[in-house]
Amino acid sequence: MKRKKVRKKRHRELGGTLNDESTYLCDSCGEEIVVPIDLSAGDDQRYVEDCPVCCNPNVVSVMIYEDGEVRCWAESE
Ligand SMILES: [Zn+2]
Repeated sequence: MKRKKVRKKRHRELGGTLNDESTYLCDSCGEEIVVPIDLSAGDDQRYVEDCPVCCNPNVVSVMIYEDGEVRCWAESE
């Protein structure tokens, strides 16, 4: 039996589950919006972003927990 070359598995980042992407539901149209998360910007972020679907501004809140879990949600202005 021939042996297949085994590719080296990439080491996971410390913590294992850090996401750099999250989603929120638009407060106006209910669409799920994917947003990039800047993990270096702090673990409690808030910014205003226009919905790419309906163009209404959402106040997007991002929480990054110690275990790497990212929560993201939107409120209307
Ligand atoms: Zn929308």
